[in-house]
Amino acid sequence: MHRVWAEIDTAAVRHNLAAIRQRVGDTRVMAVLKANAYGHGAVEMAKLLAEESIDAIGVGDSGEALELRDAGISTPILIVGGIIPGEMPRVVANDIEVNLHTSQMAEDLNAEAEKQQRRVRVHLKVDTGMGRLGMQPFEAVPFLHNLRRLRNLELVGLCTHFSLPYERNPSFTTRQIEHFNLAVEVAERLGYRDLTLHCSSSLAVFGRDDAYFNMVRTGIALWGLLPGDRHGFEDQLKPALELKSRILFLKDVPEGTPIGYSRTYYTPAPACIATLPVGYNDGYRTTLSNRAEVLLHGVRCPVVGRVSMDYTTVDVSMVPDAAVGDEITLIGKDGDERITLSEIAGWGEAIPYEILCGLGRRVARVYS
Ligand SMILES: *Cc1c(COP(=O)(O)O)cnc(C)c1O
Repeated sequence: MHRVWAEIDTAAVRHNLAAIRQRVGDTRVMAVLKANAYGHGAVEMAKLLAEESIDAIGVGDSGEALELRDAGISTPILIVGGIIPGEMPRVVANDIEVNLHTSQMAEDLNAEAEKQQRRVRVHLKVDTGMGRLGMQPFEAVPFLHNLRRLRNLELVGLCTHFSLPYERNPSFTTRQIEHFNLAVEVAERLGYRDLTLHCSSSLAVFGRDDAYFNMVRTGIALWGLLPGDRHGFEDQLKPALELKSRILFLKDVPEGTPIGYSRTYYTPAPACIATLPVGYNDGYRTTLSNRAEVLLHGVRCPVVGRVSMDYTTVDVSMVPDAAVGDEITLIGKDGDERITLSEIAGWGEAIPYEILCGLGRRVARVYS
């Protein structure tokens, strides 16, 4: 029995993958499993997606890549951002693909691969407007020219990342696509063939069918969500994660009782206050204090007072038969009510991604 747990609906993840595949057709799909698969459990999700013949897996760093290799995952793995020089030995030794951003990085990685007598599969990341990682399209010409010299590197892909695919005016994304196409042309003219071309994250999968190229990189859509405002595609996806806890302690208090650190809440009337064993250490942020709601017996109950490290207090006066041990839904559905991740993100002044990634280590993951 758990104090706080995430219920992960594996059928929903399979459903979401099918919805993504239905949209992109023959385009390959990379599942982005960084940040412990956005809190869903990277190893479990990688195994499930391998069963579904996922084409590739994306991770955030070499530690995340190794965790999957150690669990026996043999699917191609790409570190979707960048690596630091200290990560090169294990990247080379474990057959992990990386993005290159500079010539120096290519030289260093080639030297390490030569030392280990191995070949490394690399992708070139082009910055087409994100302004974060990747080289400018014009730098790709000398870079790709030089790369042919580096015998222990094999260029297998070319990629970019979109900054705001959901902006109202989509011309910026169109320009990013055009710049990417320039880099593709350069690579082809230099004789590179069969490159995996990939740009789109989840939102572009559902919003930009002109940007699939031959692979898409999906994270959040696998978990049943899309970022930003409603887009009209949400109905094709199923949220895969619910966050639950139980009432640990219950007490009736008189009007005017201060609740929690710093007395940020006083009961305006006699109340029944439930204490839940979940707090900011579990990712239930302090910004949810005096704002969020939870579900008990299908009824919305407000969080009152400050969320602390291990505990959260809730006014359950509107549920007269509340009892110690009763299940609480922090994210998800109970009866006719549902608390969505977007709702939590709104109350918590965060984005849904942050809430998922922030789920703590002691939140048990329960798969169904
Ligand atoms: C995280 C990430 C993705 C996946 O983004 P979603 O919005 O979750 O689909 C794709 N590409 C890169 C480079 C990323 O860092």
